[in-house]
Amino acid sequence: MPRAVAGPEIERLIQLIARLPGLGPRSARRVALHLIKKREALMAPLAAALTDALGKIVECRRCGNVDVCDPCTICTDASRDRRTLVVVADVGDLWALERAGALNAPYHVLGGVLSPLDGVGPEDLNLARLVTRVHEDEVGEVILALGATVDGQTTAHYITDLLREAHVRVTRLAQGVPVGGELDYLDEGTLSAAIRARTQM
Ligand code: ZN
Repeated sequence: MPRAVAGPEIERLIQLIARLPGLGPRSARRVALHLIKKREALMAPLAAALTDALGKIVECRRCGNVDVCDPCTICTDASRDRRTLVVVADVGDLWALERAGALNAPYHVLGGVLSPLDGVGPEDLNLARLVTRVHEDEVGEVILALGATVDGQTTAHYITDLLREAHVRVTRLAQGVPVGGELDYLDEGTLSAAIRARTQM
């Protein structure tokens, strides 16, 4: 355990910053020092923004997204095509798809994927509301935007079975060659998935 270099308030700040994803103890010290140096321009507004957001963040009861309003901004966006519903595991995936800008549809956030090893079963995911939404909103296509992991694909198959009665088109994202990717750098699993998912030129 290294000796403390500052009083408890600063040490606590460093320890909390170190818990953020992508930051270790060294970068946490760097971030803390940056905040301390810029305490008027950055630390004070950040502290205020954190307090402000903390008091307002809610989970959308419709789709499971996080926002400061319920229903969320995406659910109330009238320009989105409601005949399509995009299913994602987490809010981070929703944000990633929105950054890509390739879809203009509402989402449904599951809150994870099925994982027998981690003890995550169907009752732990936002599945009942998904079935209700597909029926009530007369959805024509459900896009399963889930990871290409074993758990992600298990979840995709489970949802496909769950929606069989709903007579809705269920699609999933293609798996294969990344944009800008060279073939000889790909693993065998990705290459064979890319061959199976080949499309007409
Ligand atoms: Zn929503």
